[in-house]
Amino acid sequence: MTATASRATSIRVPFADLQAQTAEVRPALESAWRDLLDTSRFVGGATVETFEHEWADYCGTRFAVSVGNGTDSLTLILRALGIGPGDEVLVPTNTFIATAEAVVLAGATPRFVDVLPGTLLVDPAQVEAAVTPRTAAVVAVHLFGQMADMTALAAVAARAGIALVEDAAQAHGATWEGQRAGSVGVAGSFSFYPGKNLGANGDGGAITTSDECLAARLRSMRDHGRSETDRYVHDLIGTNSRLDAIQAAVLSAKLKRLDDWTAARRRAVALYREELPGTLQLVDEAPQARGVHHLAVVRTAHREEVMAELAAAGIETGIHYPVPCHLQEPYREFAREALPVAERAAREILSLPMFPHLTAAQVSFVCDALHASRAVDAR
Ligand SMILES: *Cc1c(COP(=O)(O)O)cnc(C)c1O
Repeated sequence: MTATASRATSIRVPFADLQAQTAEVRPALESAWRDLLDTSRFVGGATVETFEHEWADYCGTRFAVSVGNGTDSLTLILRALGIGPGDEVLVPTNTFIATAEAVVLAGATPRFVDVLPGTLLVDPAQVEAAVTPRTAAVVAVHLFGQMADMTALAAVAARAGIALVEDAAQAHGATWEGQRAGSVGVAGSFSFYPGKNLGANGDGGAITTSDECLAARLRSMRDHGRSETDRYVHDLIGTNSRLDAIQAAVLSAKLKRLDDWTAARRRAVALYREELPGTLQLVDEAPQARGVHHLAVVRTAHREEVMAELAAAGIETGIHYPVPCHLQEPYREFAREALPVAERAAREILSLPMFPHLTAAQVSFVCDALHASRAVDAR
């Protein structure tokens, strides 16, 4: 997340606001903390298992395996699938760096693919064109809260004989043709970083899957590759990536609020759509997709000026993301070609304030500022 430093008290519309969320669940968190101090079971245990069941149910998968963060979840999925040195993994270049980072951490080679101009999500035709005999998987990133075209990607993955993995770190509860994020591919990767749609009070992550063997491998790998039956026998080379019990308690409490918070995000988007200037539109939503609007992204050719005008009006904005992964210095060695759709979008995208407790008055205030803007309509 781009954390725009909040400047004093002049901010009238923050980019995001976690305090209102925390206030809603505060009593539940305080009693969870007291219970935890009583049991002193700080890592793993019943609190974590309860949340894992709740999360699998919510996503419509048989299993959820909690981990330390959303980068580990993606890295562990790839490793558990046996993907490593010599393998290529296709990823959209327009994503948070962690998607590509996880591929490198697993020992594999990221290959970057361009995105569709309307949704800015991975282009299935370009995924298909990028498949080589070394390709082992494609990571569908459900960026901004909208699922990528999973019908087309599933067909491409089946034809190519590669794994379809979902990076759902921005898409808790989003659907594609009625199926939830994390339930379509072989496994889904979630982050519970505080700013995500479902956020812990620290770092956290989870993997969803309906593959029993994969779930068992992942449970072992997140805990030093331990055997299920003997904690001093290590069957696999794992890592330490476990969810703290306190974070599981926070996530269980917030999960009860998630559908209401998503509905509030959708209301804010509907208002933006009504009130934004005609020349400034939110990125497209595919008819098969029901997004959860992690971010509200518009495009403008005069982005820096528009950002400055909004900042002067007390409105915080962000850019997700200003540099596509294939142009980030450590990843250039994996880049093969220009990816013009994502490169152009990176210069034009602007993320408007978006969080569940954003009020209608605040959305109108942002839209009024954009109507008054000289840069928005400038040609
Ligand atoms: C946040 C995010 C991640 C990484 O999650 P962390 O919990 O911060 O490690 C991965 N992919 C995407 C698309 C994200 O937005």
